[in-house]
Amino acid sequence: MTGTSADRSAHPTAPLLELAGVGHTYTGQRRRTTVLRNIDYTFERGTFYSVLGPSGSGKTTLLALAGGLDTPTQGTVRFLGRDLTRLGLGRYRNRHAATVFQQYNLLTYMTALRNVTTAMEITGARPATGTRKEHALRLLAELGVDAATARRNVLRLSGGQQQRVAIARALACDVELLFADEPTGNLDEDTAADIIETFRSLAHDRGTCVVVVTHSQQLAARSDRILHLRKGRLTEQPGGAGPARLP
Ligand code: ADP
Ligand code: MG
Repeated sequence: MTGTSADRSAHPTAPLLELAGVGHTYTGQRRRTTVLRNIDYTFERGTFYSVLGPSGSGKTTLLALAGGLDTPTQGTVRFLGRDLTRLGLGRYRNRHAATVFQQYNLLTYMTALRNVTTAMEITGARPATGTRKEHALRLLAELGVDAATARRNVLRLSGGQQQRVAIARALACDVELLFADEPTGNLDEDTAADIIETFRSLAHDRGTCVVVVTHSQQLAARSDRILHLRKGRLTEQPGGAGPARLP
């Protein structure tokens, strides 16, 4: 993990990520849209969460607030007990939280491989063995992107290939939190199932907190905790399996 001791020592026993009274209202020219209302929820290490909810229910907004891309209009988001706005959203994103965006957000002037290695450089991730490039190629290959494809500009790749690159990029960052917004939307069923298992083992084997937005009940069933977003409220589906114990 890449957090500095300063980030960690602040509140060592604090929950990993805490939403406290979080609400969010978008203010347009004509009207205000309240998307999230008074959400209290704690995300723990080593746990794989899925978030279900109808289109427009605020799933992407929730990930943006938890992932440090935006600040809630109400309430606070705390990482290890520290308000994200005090920690700094950029610092949080660079060192602690990676996001797989719904629209990928790849750097379009780069190859797939450079997209992955650049993210590793920014987050300071160092592979256990070999170079960053070798690690990136290995991850891409595991996700079905071969070495030749990895060396092409991402704009020349299909939607499904870009989605795999976006997932590889997030997996390559050695961070405590990983957020993914409908990461399997463009993939066939088998690949989607494989990727969900990858997320699951990231949580259970490496202790990462993984939060995945999905439309698929089947994929959600593989997570430890299933959350539902509806009418601005977040609820946990009762009777979930709960997180597996860390070894
Ligand atoms: P979901 O991901 O569940 O489909 P979103 O979080 O993208 O939902 O959006 C929730 C609601 O907020 C929608 O009604 C959407 O139109 C609105 N919304 C999202 N982003 C903005 C924005 N930047 N400005 C105004 N309204 C927005
Ligand atoms: Mg969305």
